[in-house]
Amino acid sequence: MKLVIAKSAGFCFGVKRAMEIAMEAAKKHPKTLYTLGPLIHNPQAVEFLKGLGVKVRDRIEHIPRGTVIFRSHGVSLKDLMKARKKKLHIINATCPIVKRAQLFAKYLHRNGYVLLIVGDPHHPEVEAIRSYIPEGVEVVEDAGGAQRIGPWEKLGVIAQTTQSFSFFKEVVSVCLERAKELRVFNTICHATTIRQMEAVEIAREVDCMMVIGGYNSGNTQRLAAICREIQPHTYHIETSQELRPKWLAGREKIGLTAGASTPSWIIREVELRVRHLKGLRG
Ligand code: SF4
Repeated sequence: MKLVIAKSAGFCFGVKRAMEIAMEAAKKHPKTLYTLGPLIHNPQAVEFLKGLGVKVRDRIEHIPRGTVIFRSHGVSLKDLMKARKKKLHIINATCPIVKRAQLFAKYLHRNGYVLLIVGDPHHPEVEAIRSYIPEGVEVVEDAGGAQRIGPWEKLGVIAQTTQSFSFFKEVVSVCLERAKELRVFNTICHATTIRQMEAVEIAREVDCMMVIGGYNSGNTQRLAAICREIQPHTYHIETSQELRPKWLAGREKIGLTAGASTPSWIIREVELRVRHLKGLRG
């Protein structure tokens, strides 16, 4: 039996940075530290932060005073203004790669392009990006979505940073036929592309694939969907306790990857459980 673990599994640069910022802030402001929404899409990591005194609030209105951390997905203009008005101490942990996508969005709007974001309209990153653009923003999840809107004179396209590259290409190809002038900025995070490519490679060579990460994590869900297309025996789990022994029965090569917000200790626990169930050394 062989276990193949993706080198790219687990925290990306932006999530690692946000976690470090939060842990550092917890030392300085142990009693009045809040995140606006869960810092990352992983319930176990959020629980860990809670142990350090980092409280989660979904609305600025629910933060009485003190310090608020804006997460790696970015913050909407409305929430930023509310936090400033309340004179909260702001720590902005927006990932620089997300900030770059925001800058491209503003650039396109300033230059008269309708902005098309390829991503999940309800994802906080997409909500934050569109909040800085007063009008002329469309969000589509796939090529079919792009076919239903337009045509456009001037169209600018960007992607949610964790979008799948092949999806992005499909949408851009539709836009090419529906816009007279088209500008495209590939804002997909390199770390996401590498993670997805590595997952595809592993899924091709194994007979069972484990994808670890929060059920509320969009990038983990996409990773699982990509792997499932190649390897039907793909299982998305949050923790090692969810792993069922019957999934591994008769499987000789098992692959393991994890989303960008999955802590290394959870990946290690899953690894150890797979090794234990298959009688391999840790
Ligand atoms: S996936 Fe990329 S863009 Fe998103 S937080 Fe991580 S490093 Fe930043």
